[in-house]
Formats: sequence, structure tokens, C-alpha cells
Amino acid sequence: MTSPKTPKITRAIDIDGVTVHYGDVLALDNVSLTLASGTVCGLIGVNGSGKSTLFKTIMGLIRPDTGTVRVNGGSPALARRDSAIGYVPQSENVDWAFPMSVRDVVLTGRYGKLGFTRRPRRADHTAVDEALERVDLAELAGRQIGRLSGGQRKRAFVARGIAQGARVLLLDEPFAGVDKRSEATITRLLRELAATGATVLVSTHDLHALPELADEAVLLMRSVLARGNPGEVLRPENLALAFGMRAREGEPA
Ligand code: ADP
Ligand code: MG
Repeated sequence: MTSPKTPKITRAIDIDGVTVHYGDVLALDNVSLTLASGTVCGLIGVNGSGKSTLFKTIMGLIRPDTGTVRVNGGSPALARRDSAIGYVPQSENVDWAFPMSVRDVVLTGRYGKLGFTRRPRRADHTAVDEALERVDLAELAGRQIGRLSGGQRKRAFVARGIAQGARVLLLDEPFAGVDKRSEATITRLLRELAATGATVLVSTHDLHALPELADEAVLLMRSVLARGNPGEVLRPENLALAFGMRAREGEPA
């Protein structure tokens, strides 16, 4: 658990030479990446470029064939146990019919902090209430999670990460199928979290919004094609490489 005395960790996420296969499919090829605390990093790349695999590897849900992942200097499993890392999965990987209310979902963020009785205490309920307020969902707290719009669902999962107190947050396409208001709310929250020292890695297809969202960007295509400030990474020659588009506008792909 972090305390005010904990020294500032500059390498919140440290990925070194990570390669992942699914059977014969090479999903990540020798990926190395370090992310400093207090930053939002935008992860971009076409479908199938390995974004979700990278998230799962950082979470320790997939073990790489080669290479290492460190979160706050320790293993992903340790970071998960300490509730130091929060994850908003891609929507397709969530069972929306599951009979949980929005509040229940956010409360799952507190499970790592519950005492031996496993019963939520006042501090847990307070953290959940505050998180719901921050994502603008207090009024919908009792609703079944599947009965929310796409954007509201995403906000519920962001609230879970906030209630958890995670200082490292991974968000896999939080803006996909999301209304403008939810996108703006989530963007503002992520910026606020980074301003207080959190580390945020967020995949997105919304390239126009990237400069506003992210301090830096990573262009993935099984390996890291480009990395830097969003303006640099979004240069036409990089996009041409990653998205198979011609560098000059107006030319057919
Ligand atoms: P992205 O999130 O960028 O769309 P993914 O990480 O989901 O990319 O996928 C990367 C590659 O790995 C793709 O070729 C995809 O088909 C493959 N892949 C992803 N998950 C699995 C899986 N569970 N089994 C087999 N192949 C997978
Ligand atoms: Mg994906």
C-alpha cells in the first residue's frame, strides 16, 4: 500500500523485451516501454496490433514468452494484490447480463482492501460514493450494470479504479461506443488522476482527441513503431506504417 512517505516511483510501468504468442500467432514482438508516474499515455494501433494483449500482460493475466513486466518495481501479481493497479477491460470481455448494480461493480474495487470479515465498512462505502460522484453516476448507483449506456458503463469501471485507489490505471478502449459527454468526463478524470501522480495507459481509436488526452503516445503494431508526444507519433508517415494508409492525403490506401 502506498503511504505519503513512499518515494515517488518514476517507472510505474516497466516493460522489457516482452514477446507474447497465442499458439502460432505472434501478438507482441519484443516490446519495451517505460511509463513514468504522473502521465497519461495513449496507446494506438489497428485492431489486432496487440493493444489488449499488452494490457493483459501488464495486469499479469498473460505471462509473456520472454521479457519482463514490472509495476511499481514489483511483479504484476503483487501490484494486483496491493490494489495498486486498476484495469478497465474492453467491453466485449465483460458479461453485462451479470446481476450486479453499478454500486456493486464499483465496490469490487474495494475487495483487495476489505478486512478478514470481507464485509465492506464505512470507509469502503464512502470511497464508492465519492467515486460515483466523480464519474457523474451517483443517481444511477442502484441500476443493473447492463442497463447503462456504453459510456455510463465505462464510467462505472473508471469509478471502480478510483474507489480502488489504484495509482496505475489501464483502460482498454474506454471511448469506443461512448457518447461525447462520457468521453469528456473520462478524459477530464484521467487528466486529474495524472495530475495527482497516477500513471494512466489508455488505448483509443480517437486520434483527434489524443493531444488533449495524452502527454505521450505509443503506436503499436506487435512492436512499438513510434513513441513520443502525440503530435510526433501522429505524423502521416507513422500512421501510414501503422494503419496501412498512404502518407499523402487523398491517395487511396
Ligand atoms: P488489439 O487489442 O490491438 O485489437 P489483441 O491484443 O486483441 O489486439 O490481439 C492481437 C493478436 O492476437 C491478434 O492477431 C488476435 O487475433 C490475436 N489474439 C488475441 N487474443 C487471442 C486469443 N485468446 N487466442 C488467440 N489469438 C488471440
Ligand atoms: Mg483490443
